[in-house]
Amino acid sequence: MEKLALKAAILIISDTAFQDPSTDKSAQILTDAFSKEGGDQWSISDRTIVPDDVIAVQREICRLSDGDDAVNLLITTGGTGFAVKDNTPEAVHPLLHRHAPGLVHGMLAASLEVTSFAMMSRPVAGVRNKTLIVTLPGSPKGAKENLLAILKLLPHACQQAAGGDSRALHAGGIRKLERDAGVTNKQPSQHAHHHHQHDHVHSHGGHVIPKAHTRPEDRPVSNDPQAGPSNRHRKSPYPIHSVNSALNLIYKNTPPPEASVVAVNTDLVGHTLAEDVTAGEAVPAFRASIVDGYAVIVSADAPSTPGVFSVASVSHAAAGEIPELQRGEVARITTGAPLPPGANAVIMVEDTLVKSTTADGKDETMVEILTGAVKPNENLREVGSDVNKGDVVLRRGEEITSVGGELGLLASVGVSRVSAYRKPIVGVLSTGDEIVSHDREEPLRLGEVRDSNRLTLMAAVRGWGYTAVDLGIAKDRSGSLEEHLRSALRSIDVIITSGGVSMGELDLLKPTIERAIGGTIHFGRVAMKPGKPTTFATVAHKPLSGDRNSARDRLIFSLPGNPASALVTANLFVLPTLQKMSGKPAPWGLPRMKVVLREDVRCDKDRAEYHRVGLKAGDDGRVWASTTGGQRSSKVSSLKGAQGLLCLPAKDGMIARGETIDALLMGSLQGL
Ligand code: AMP
Ligand code: MG
Repeated sequence: MEKLALKAAILIISDTAFQDPSTDKSAQILTDAFSKEGGDQWSISDRTIVPDDVIAVQREICRLSDGDDAVNLLITTGGTGFAVKDNTPEAVHPLLHRHAPGLVHGMLAASLEVTSFAMMSRPVAGVRNKTLIVTLPGSPKGAKENLLAILKLLPHACQQAAGGDSRALHAGGIRKLERDAGVTNKQPSQHAHHHHQHDHVHSHGGHVIPKAHTRPEDRPVSNDPQAGPSNRHRKSPYPIHSVNSALNLIYKNTPPPEASVVAVNTDLVGHTLAEDVTAGEAVPAFRASIVDGYAVIVSADAPSTPGVFSVASVSHAAAGEIPELQRGEVARITTGAPLPPGANAVIMVEDTLVKSTTADGKDETMVEILTGAVKPNENLREVGSDVNKGDVVLRRGEEITSVGGELGLLASVGVSRVSAYRKPIVGVLSTGDEIVSHDREEPLRLGEVRDSNRLTLMAAVRGWGYTAVDLGIAKDRSGSLEEHLRSALRSIDVIITSGGVSMGELDLLKPTIERAIGGTIHFGRVAMKPGKPTTFATVAHKPLSGDRNSARDRLIFSLPGNPASALVTANLFVLPTLQKMSGKPAPWGLPRMKVVLREDVRCDKDRAEYHRVGLKAGDDGRVWASTTGGQRSSKVSSLKGAQGLLCLPAKDGMIARGETIDALLMGSLQGL
């Protein structure tokens, strides 16, 4: 398109500048903008200053836009705000023959990128006769920004307004117009829900219309760290989930538990059985005496015979051969010792007397039985009377607890290996340039924060009965995070990170998971307090060939950095996942119970809150909850001495002291 010579006028509308023209900076700044950015097309033919007076403004507008000498473009500055004396729009509006809301929109959109105060501007734009009129704000900076936002398109607009042939103008399509004007075509933004495109945009002339091969929902929604802070999202693109919906997403994406055969020993504590266990042997495995006394032979019709008998043998609780008992003999026996073959009852020592001893007087040779009432099977335990061989002693889904009962049972029935679910291995990683190890000796420098989360989270994981691996501290750099995560993914089932999930430009967890390690983020926000930015992702793990690890998804929980948030969300989301992965039957998570409030507590009107409380069992049989104090999510001390989390619903108002509500039990209960 050939360059046009266009005439522009600048009308300064300002009481102050009218009184003292030296106070006006806008006219010069705008003139400079036209000459620097206007592509040598503009001559400024008129610069006039008028007060904030509707009649004065309208008089100038008519002068500049009516008649043969009219300018192509009339720019006004000032009087577009909300102040009482701001009435430029009111002056200009009635004089416009045709309105140009697109230009208004363009200017506002550009200013809104800079400041929300752009909303306080009321620009108008339109055509009077053949003159395009645009009102700019009064501040020189704002005026220039607005002008630059539309300047490249103005020649085209002015030319058409002046009656240029629009068919000829559009001959090359919108792309040519854009090229001629020096503006770039705007790519529809990733997050815009509707893409309004001008009809001209589609060029069908034999060109293949570009087609994306991924669906929008499959593309990363995290920030591109390369794009710099000004391009980061200003609102999280992740939909907000309720706690329950977040838990469902976790459960849906948690790999099923894996069974393996393991030895029965104390390492089995905390594991869940993957198969029913049957007794390999009977308990007891032999007929055993339950008293100290004398094994005898009695028959059902003839109970024990009182009288004097010779002591034929001795049976202690020890392994070995015992000679068969004959009628007329007794055998001395101790508690738990096997009965000699042939014997079928035991007379307790209290019902006997010693009649004769060996020469040294140490051993008995004859005893007298004093009772005639002992019947067959009296004072003994039959083979298998506790557990029969082949009985199911423990069922699939039952847990081996540290109370010891299950281990003892397995041991007693001769089971030395069982099929149990593997417990996931958990890694704990802290993130942040400011985070330093808790035990670093030097004092903190300005901005440094001691790493409390790693210690707290590892302790919690171990307390739940899982192996916690220390993954150290990663820097707020994509490379550092990627390296830490990649190496952890090789051997660790569940990675817990803390920090770096908020909206700051250094919050790189989400982008690193999505863009660098190819993970899938299932949720990135939860409607809860504390813990809103809690993020859950899975990463497909492909084991190297020959690796015994199976291909199962790795889980990543990226918890917020604030210490209270990190621990609360770990209890709420990580614990139940670990339980599910290790084959425990539902319900998973912290046990829920009813507690009575010792003081009033205020709820958050938008988010369910988990309020840290101490719990004590009262002598009224109820459990009483008292707050641990300020609940700010950064407050480390709100967790000291917290045995529970009150489940406060999202509502406007208080829950009064004395009321009963749900709490999750984190520690153990204390007595009053
Ligand atoms: P971020 O989510 O990374 O913005 O962190 C939120 C807040 O938690 C910041 O004040 C961090 O300094 C703090 N923070 C992050 N990680 C830790 C940690 N491992 N130990 C203690 N405080 C932390
Ligand atoms: Mg951080």
